[in-house]
Amino acid sequence: MPPTTKTDFYELLGVSRKAGAKEIRAAFRKLARKYHPDLNPGDKAAEEKFKQIQEAYDVLSDTKKRQMYDQHGFYSENYQGGPGPGAGEGPGGVQFDFGGFDFGGAGGGASFRDLFSQFFRGGAAVEHAAAGREPGGDLEYQLEIDFTDAVRGVVKKLSIVRLDGCEICHGTGAVGTPQTCTGCGGTGVIQQAAGKMRFNVPCTRCGGTGKLHTACRTCGGEGRVRRTETIDVRIPTGVASGSRVRVPGKGNAGTMGAPPGDLYLRVVVKEHAVFERQGNDLYVKVPVTVAEATLGAKIEVPTIDGRALVRIPPGTNSGQRLRLREKGVASARSGARGDQYVEVQVVVPQPTDERVRNLMKELESIAPEDPRKELFGKAGV
Ligand SMILES: [Zn+2]
Ligand SMILES: [Zn+2]
Repeated sequence: MPPTTKTDFYELLGVSRKAGAKEIRAAFRKLARKYHPDLNPGDKAAEEKFKQIQEAYDVLSDTKKRQMYDQHGFYSENYQGGPGPGAGEGPGGVQFDFGGFDFGGAGGGASFRDLFSQFFRGGAAVEHAAAGREPGGDLEYQLEIDFTDAVRGVVKKLSIVRLDGCEICHGTGAVGTPQTCTGCGGTGVIQQAAGKMRFNVPCTRCGGTGKLHTACRTCGGEGRVRRTETIDVRIPTGVASGSRVRVPGKGNAGTMGAPPGDLYLRVVVKEHAVFERQGNDLYVKVPVTVAEATLGAKIEVPTIDGRALVRIPPGTNSGQRLRLREKGVASARSGARGDQYVEVQVVVPQPTDERVRNLMKELESIAPEDPRKELFGKAGV
């Protein structure tokens, strides 16, 4: 493309002369949105500006062209040379719709969409190259663990399915030596005409890189393969149901050597037959006999450390709670232990034995109090 304007390309895009490919692309995208002819119908100045930034981007986004421009202050199509390595930064990442803008007066009626749709999508042969470096996504799995494992911490063997880097192509998606593109002769650029106007557009065959890669068959050119992996996951002591455990780097692999995502395990703790957990405190219902509740006793109760002795005070009622300090769960954060609450449940003797029945009758005769007296008072009936 001959230099049709004296305007400095860097100034046009508003970037410094040291700007990298990404910065140039970002600047182009921003300006292209602003001066897009669809957004400025009938505005000849905007249309002209749009053409200029398109031209500037065409040159500055190509390493060789840019080199020549930097050296001579213009870029000429007559220059014959291979595309630079930076050309691969190309148009694959540009994502906006040119809509159906029609070249007014150009005669041919070719729309921007027709002209550039391929440009912006890139060729299928190089989709892996155009995809660029993308960090891998996070994965989330649900993990059900036993109550005891949650309390004590555990190492779990897990089988997960994740996208891993392809070993055959080392995550590049391509194998073998790249060949010179036959579509553009290695320049990465082809000419397209719309009426009287001619445009240099990146070659659709090679996506503007000038080279054709052979896509890796193992991963289909994606650079990643789905794989089932068995991993050991350390579940911390005291983990609570509903919390998430992060396993760094075990999400999906990134593309082109970009970092992998993380694996998150949403922990669901199974209920225990005896212990009920609220925060880091534990609740246990413990049956006691009438005699133990009446006379007081030292009884054994279960704790997560094993058995512990608890003193039941004389005259303890059903439903009363006794606290065992620091016999609860160790906090996953601080390690500080919660408490255990023992709820007393008085178990009445079965009246199958005549002596038991007689004893109960005797008990009633010597302690004839009415336990429901206050109840009616409170109920007001
Ligand atoms: Zn591969
Ligand atoms: Zn090509």
